Amino acid sequence: MSPSAGQDYPRSYAQLRGWFDEDWKCLDYLDWLRWPTGFVCPHCGSDHGWRASDRRWRCAGCDRRVSVTAGTIFDKTRTPLSVWFATAWLLVNGKTGVSATHLRREMELGSVQTAWAMLHRYRSVMVRPGRDRLRGEVEVDESFLGGPQPGVPGRGALGKVLFAGAIEVEGGGFGRARLGVIPDASADSLAAFLHANVEPGSCVVTDGWTAYPPATKGDYIHQGTSVAASGPPAHEVLLGTRLVFSLVKRWVMGTLQGSVSPEHVQAYFDEWVFRFNRRHSGSRGLLFYTLLRQAVDSEPVIYRSLRKAGRTRSAPPPPHGPRSNPPSRDVKQPRHGTRAALRDQNAPLTLQRLCRHVGSPGPLPLRRKEPRSADDDGHHGQRLRHRDGPLRPHLLPP
Ligand SMILES: [Zn+2]
Repeated sequence: MSPSAGQDYPRSYAQLRGWFDEDWKCLDYLDWLRWPTGFVCPHCGSDHGWRASDRRWRCAGCDRRVSVTAGTIFDKTRTPLSVWFATAWLLVNGKTGVSATHLRREMELGSVQTAWAMLHRYRSVMVRPGRDRLRGEVEVDESFLGGPQPGVPGRGALGKVLFAGAIEVEGGGFGRARLGVIPDASADSLAAFLHANVEPGSCVVTDGWTAYPPATKGDYIHQGTSVAASGPPAHEVLLGTRLVFSLVKRWVMGTLQGSVSPEHVQAYFDEWVFRFNRRHSGSRGLLFYTLLRQAVDSEPVIYRSLRKAGRTRSAPPPPHGPRSNPPSRDVKQPRHGTRAALRDQNAPLTLQRLCRHVGSPGPLPLRRKEPRSADDDGHHGQRLRHRDGPLRPHLLPP
């Protein structure tokens, strides 16, 4: 039975925040996703166990305590699961996904690295092992991503990356797509891409590149179209792959601003394909459900292993000399604060003393207290009585 919206997964972002406002609720949901027919111990395979008060299972077979997040991308995370859940929603439901910088701001995360690692953990589970390969009539072509950008010096960490794309042609439209980084456009590399992504026996439509006949030989029906020889204008052949290439390039170079290191291009492709292949999905919550289910079914990816694969920017050099105050502590003490005046002389603060303290020649002329209007949040006068802060200029005598 297929899962239903509002019952098996949230219907909207608002519902998601309502359902998963606390971590124990997220744990319960993951528990239900991971073991839909009941607990199975990942160590000994026993299906008998008890759930302890900390929501971990105690296996009856091996007596181990098992957490639902053990062995998943959520393993040993210090980020609240409610944040992970909201991130999953943003990642699969935004038309262009979500960038690490945006996610850090939105979820108030400590650093962009944390946001980046979360997104990459999700990307690592977007390809379901053993997923069905493309079938029927399939267009295949290859293209470049990145490369030097004229007029944009220093922008875009992405060097030139060669990749292949495939898309099913169905009636008047297109079906599922696949993208894969390839080392070169040789027959061996293209054959490896085809075998990983296209079901043998399918009809593979390509351009006239000489590597395609040997790459498809034996396993596929090859239909090559040489644009130059056969006559059809370039915009009439391989429409599907042209569409995919233009969309994915616009996404990488536009939304991600090309700040993708070549080692991570495949992960970004996986994310793009995940959304593209589900573009007709009636419910957006279903994508969230699918991603979380795949997340509890797979092996953990640790941040270090992600970093090892390559990073966007090199780390800054360690600072020399003694440690200075962090920016938050590096605030100069106000020279003329009302509190400081009180501390200094422990005497009642008069208008004269205040004026002396701030270096004014004389007392302010007495003014009638005027009611001030509230600010947007309905606060009255807070700005004047900020704790320990220096006096605001408009309080000082002219
Ligand atoms: Zn066990």
